[in-house]
Amino acid sequence: MRYSLAVNDELRNLFHGEVIEPSGIHYDEARRVWNGAVDHYPELIVRPFDAAAVSVAVCFANRNGMPIAVLGGGYDWAGRSVRSGAMVIDLIHMATVDVDAERQVARVGGGSKSNEVLARAGECGLAAITGAVGHVGITGFALSGGYGPLTPGLGLGADNLLSAELVLADGTLETASNEKSPELLWALKGGGGNFGVVTSLELRLHPVSDILAGKILYPWSGAAALLESYGRYMASAPNDLAATLALVTAPDGKPAVALAPCWQGDLADGSAEVENLTAIGEPALAKVGPMKPKDLFSLFEANAVPGRRYAQQTRWLPALGPDVVQVLLAAAQAKSSPFSAIAIQSFHGLPTFVPVDATAFPIRSPHFLVSIVAAWEDQSAEADEKNRVWASETSRALEPFSLPGGYASLLGPNETEQLAHVYGSNTERLMRIKRQFDPSNRFTANGPISL
Ligand SMILES: Cc1cc2nc3c(=O)[nH]c(=O)nc-3n(C[C@H](O)[C@H](O)[C@H](O)COP(=O)(O)OP(=O)(O)OC[C@H]3O[C@@H](n4cnc5c(N)ncnc54)[C@H](O)[C@@H]3O)c2cc1C
Repeated sequence: MRYSLAVNDELRNLFHGEVIEPSGIHYDEARRVWNGAVDHYPELIVRPFDAAAVSVAVCFANRNGMPIAVLGGGYDWAGRSVRSGAMVIDLIHMATVDVDAERQVARVGGGSKSNEVLARAGECGLAAITGAVGHVGITGFALSGGYGPLTPGLGLGADNLLSAELVLADGTLETASNEKSPELLWALKGGGGNFGVVTSLELRLHPVSDILAGKILYPWSGAAALLESYGRYMASAPNDLAATLALVTAPDGKPAVALAPCWQGDLADGSAEVENLTAIGEPALAKVGPMKPKDLFSLFEANAVPGRRYAQQTRWLPALGPDVVQVLLAAAQAKSSPFSAIAIQSFHGLPTFVPVDATAFPIRSPHFLVSIVAAWEDQSAEADEKNRVWASETSRALEPFSLPGGYASLLGPNETEQLAHVYGSNTERLMRIKRQFDPSNRFTANGPISL
């Protein structure tokens, strides 16, 4: 161990929070994240109670030459929030959610989870933009861009980010808002946690109290026509309709297509719209009905079990033509585990009208976000290899049909070709802001923003 007990005692005296050393009884539990295949050994895990304590931790790490990793919800599949050899700043104790119902704004701590935000906002008949899985950190989500079921009508998570409080690389506290450091706020809207430790965010909320959502399962026999119809349908779908399609394994062990619609407008109009969408194929099972936005999470939890082993790849597809559909279906049939899936989210509606240079998030043309998720339980090296190869071969097969780059938070550190193209025309501005706020590259959350 490079950092002596005496040094850690020095931290303990100054620091308002928990300090977990490798010898501590909670260390093993504290270093675990959603992906069970991540087995990283941080040098130290600190759990600050407030922004001042975050600053103490950053200064301590700087003085002792320790790399820093920031842990929010722990859902980065590559485990970049718990790096080996680093000081992990775990924001688990900074998870407050305060809702100002009149202003329709939530102020959330840097360690808050998506489900905590939706539950609190829901008490006031409001909703925030989140993804489909409740335990994902809202900060990691919003800073990545943040595609969610309410996105077509209300924007990305990043589009709804109003301001942020950060601890910068030199330990100083900074506010990023339209009034103060607007360039930093621009960078945070899609540039990820590469600029500092975000201790709190202000998020815009929306008066969405009821939605129409659920799951529809289709047999594999009509999968090709179904995917093409889904592609055509979503290309002209109304802003109030989101729908994720996934190539999954049905409870009977056979491949199947699952569709998860979410309608956020007038519920009476939504019934007809969802019926039309459902009719793109012949469902074997359909369960769609009114619910609260926070109840959406229960639809997807079974597909994202914490502790399983995962590997991910991602692509942006401009369309779902017959050729790419054949590639997707072949990949789904070649899956090396029944838990693996390919999910396709449509990006359309309001966020496509935002100019590309309005935020660091770099893609505003309508597209489909493809998440290739290899998931398995067998802990053997052979199983690891087989499943990782399935994900990377699927990504490679989709490459000829894909747009350059990809969604930064789902791109692993080895995807150098895609990483080089993530930010497109926003790259130069983003790098300028990175050099201004983190010249020594202390925060290397994800994506290609490093010096
Ligand atoms: C099961 C699952 C479902 C998902 N669904 C969606 C979805 O529907 N839509 C979507 O857009 N994305 C989705 N994602 C991607 C997810 O939003 C990103 O991986 C996000 O970065 C995870 O944030 P986290 O805080 O949970 O993870 P962490 O692993 O804690 O953090 C992720 C990255 O952000 C950094 N970070 C986290 N919090 C802070 C902070 N407060 N300050 C500075 N840096 C920070 C970390 O250092 C790390 O590099 C999903 C991922 C998974 C695994």
